[in-house]
Amino acid sequence: MITKKSRHEISLMKTAGSIVAEVHELMKELVKPGVSTLELDEKAEKLIRERKAIPAFKGYHGFPGSICASINEQVVHGIPSGDVVLKEGDIISVDVGAIYKGLVGDAAITLPVGEITDELKELLKGTEEALYAGIEGLRAGNKLYDTVSAAVEDKANEYGYGIVRNYGGHGIGRSMHEDPFVYNFRPGVPGPELKPGMAICIEPMFNLGTGSVHTEQDKWTVVTDDGKASAHFEHTILVTDSDPLILTQIHA
Ligand code: MG
Repeated sequence: MITKKSRHEISLMKTAGSIVAEVHELMKELVKPGVSTLELDEKAEKLIRERKAIPAFKGYHGFPGSICASINEQVVHGIPSGDVVLKEGDIISVDVGAIYKGLVGDAAITLPVGEITDELKELLKGTEEALYAGIEGLRAGNKLYDTVSAAVEDKANEYGYGIVRNYGGHGIGRSMHEDPFVYNFRPGVPGPELKPGMAICIEPMFNLGTGSVHTEQDKWTVVTDDGKASAHFEHTILVTDSDPLILTQIHA
């Protein structure tokens, strides 16, 4: 069932979304060579708790971190660790979730560590463009897969990237993962009709090489089968009567 959010719930989701956006701003300042992903995790958790929110990922199905920190060929669900130290030329995807008074915000960005190759810059640009192309389709009356999923797939094809098909976006609200599932490609059906009040996470994951992935022995970290780099961008967005509203941004 796809839930529609009340005005009150939307206001709480805006606050949750602002907190997530603040964490991403903090990550942009902190990400540099020599920093461990555990340090990033600790600083993210501190900020989330200072804002009277709860890190949504911590303890979720037993996940140990407050953020997912996925480097280079890691696609999603990387576990923060003091042993993982960022190096010049890496890329790092930081996925963050915050629960504020029972409502969740969820977003991801992929950041460069120092100077990265043009190939990686292009991967980040193309994946972020896919997110915004998807958001553009998130309008009342549209069919989710015909517009959002199709736009994401088209962007991957434009750049020639592999699409990670095993994971995708989702509805969100009082739970982090609600209906509907959001494919990053055309699944062959039009998908549910979008209505004002629905809140959806769109999250393209694009790879330089194959879209095929597997999970490592830690049971969490998803990596590309060919070891080539992967990028991930995500926002939580509200369907409205007019333009889509990105909830995971800093609201004035
Ligand atoms: Mg998500």
